[in-house]
Amino acid sequence: MHPHLEILLEIQDLKTQRRELEETGADREVQESVFGLGIDEALGQIDAKVEEMLESLPTAVRSRYVRIAARNTRAMVPVIRGTCYGCFVQVPTALASDAARNEEVRSCQSCGRFLYLID
Ligand SMILES: [Zn+2]
Repeated sequence: MHPHLEILLEIQDLKTQRRELEETGADREVQESVFGLGIDEALGQIDAKVEEMLESLPTAVRSRYVRIAARNTRAMVPVIRGTCYGCFVQVPTALASDAARNEEVRSCQSCGRFLYLID
């Protein structure tokens, strides 16, 4: 997989983790005993890591990511059977072909989300 795609996927994982932490804020005490650090501290660490990973991306990819992430929960979506799972529009065959399997950073022409191909 293209290194930029890997970074984008990791960022998405971290953001999902962040949301889950926030949503379980009611169980704050339980969380704190599990993590051994406060929720706010944990969120801060996630934010710092996301920032660091964003910085490692080329400006073009980073600014595109920031733009998409601002209006979508998931900036990166899988293509399954030739369909973008962000907007459920069929992506061009060339884009979905085996030759280009996650070796390049691609985005959906319909919704703009980053795409990664899975079987
Ligand atoms: Zn799409």
